[in-house]
Amino acid sequence: PHETIRVGLEERAYDILIGANLLERAGEEIAARMPGARAAIVTDENVAAIHLKALEAGLAKAGIQSTAVVVPAGEQSKSFSVLQTVVDAILAARLERRDVVIALGGGVVGDLSGFAAGIIRRGMDFVQVPTSLLAQVDSSVGGKTGINTAHGKNLVGVFHQPKLVLADTSVLDTLPEREFRAGYAETVKYGLIDRPDFFEWLEANWREVFAGGPARARAIAVACQSKAEVVARDERETGDRALLNLGHTFGHALEATTGYDSARLVHGEGVAIGMALAHRFSARLNLASPDDAVRVEAHLTQVGLPTKLSDIPGELPDAEQLLAYITQDKKVSRGALTFILTRGIGQSFIAKDVPSSEVLTFLRDSL
Ligand code: NAD
Ligand code: ZN
Repeated sequence: PHETIRVGLEERAYDILIGANLLERAGEEIAARMPGARAAIVTDENVAAIHLKALEAGLAKAGIQSTAVVVPAGEQSKSFSVLQTVVDAILAARLERRDVVIALGGGVVGDLSGFAAGIIRRGMDFVQVPTSLLAQVDSSVGGKTGINTAHGKNLVGVFHQPKLVLADTSVLDTLPEREFRAGYAETVKYGLIDRPDFFEWLEANWREVFAGGPARARAIAVACQSKAEVVARDERETGDRALLNLGHTFGHALEATTGYDSARLVHGEGVAIGMALAHRFSARLNLASPDDAVRVEAHLTQVGLPTKLSDIPGELPDAEQLLAYITQDKKVSRGALTFILTRGIGQSFIAKDVPSSEVLTFLRDSL
């Protein structure tokens, strides 16, 4: 029993399957869509140790031969040197264009191996088997792939849509609790953008989502659907994709000013604080009721996510440093700031021309 969502446009449309124990079925699902393909599985050390055997067995059951390429775990693997290792290993296995690269891992493995698949032989078939909640609700949908450079994160990459996404909800049982919560923040985001009933559903069902089972699959399915819809709307050039940045302007500033130190803050935690700040800031600008900000904060706190700047351990950046980072951020146009603000839960919108002086006083009062 799994849910299937079909996303993407016409010939490039693909299925996202969401449910328990999908690794076992990976072979038959891939063989049905890519008959005769051989496979290279790209994964990281952590995930390989726990889930690689099950995927290999699932592929072998359908007669699919596979080679595994294991990279170190962590953001540092989104680099030119690791990309080269992956590309070389796939070519050494003599895989051809119609063979398939399978990403088994979190967003790091997905971004890295999707990029490798996108450039080898000008584009090999690609399947995502996301194993972190963040990857299942966010990075495996939308087709963005890439690596980091000394000049910044995600600056080199290609759009390369997968042929299939298998979101196995049971593999999340082995994800460290903190990583699960970080992915949960991105899940809540979709409710706060434009699905107030999803937010309400999460308030009532989050314990079941954390525990696993059908509620978890439901939450992931709604999140994937939401992301796919926003991405599809953006392909028609309305600029709506920016809504996915809810909580991210503040979040990125916090990640940067705390030195990307995961001991202090991981991305999803920055987004949780950022979403709480975006709601409080919207209330302060009299755009939304303060009750909504309180409600958002209460839910994030309830699941164990941070919501305040003071929730970050260690010495905090000051308001000026945060603003300096935000104004260097690409979301600045003509001296005014663009923020994702809200008129209430599930009513986010893109606000252009937010005065930086307002942001500065708000940040000062929040510290
Ligand atoms: P990650 O891939 O580093 O995974 C987090 C940690 O969890 C790693 O240590 C990993 O080994 C471990 N892990 C993953 N699955 C596990 C499992 N089932 N059991 C035990 N351990 C497991 O990080 P992430 O949070 O998944 O992804 C972050 C990356 O995603 C960033 O590089 C970010 O830029 C990227 N991203 C991309 C997009 C996109 O649209 N392409 C969107 C959002 C984020
Ligand atoms: Zn994010």
